[in-house]
Amino acid sequence: MRKAGCNGMKLKRCPFCGGKAEVGYGESFMHKTAFIYCMDCHIRTKPQMEGMTMPYNGKPGTYISLEKCKQMASSEWNRRVHDTYMVMSEGEAGA
Ligand SMILES: [Zn+2]
Repeated sequence: MRKAGCNGMKLKRCPFCGGKAEVGYGESFMHKTAFIYCMDCHIRTKPQMEGMTMPYNGKPGTYISLEKCKQMASSEWNRRVHDTYMVMSEGEAGA
């Protein structure tokens, strides 16, 4: 048996209005972005940008494909975490 119409990604309904969510695309600084938005109230996740990530703490940047962006945005939408912690670095050492 073959499963038809399965695009491999399930999006939960909007936490605010119960509306249907969809993948949206945009562009930022010449890079494609992907995000998830609610078709009713238009709340959306922050856009994930395709391309190389910035090198950070000596780690080199990695390439993020648009497909990966979609996945990151979807898991963010589905996660429903409101307690994102701001990590404060102790003592700002100058570079
Ligand atoms: Zn909504």
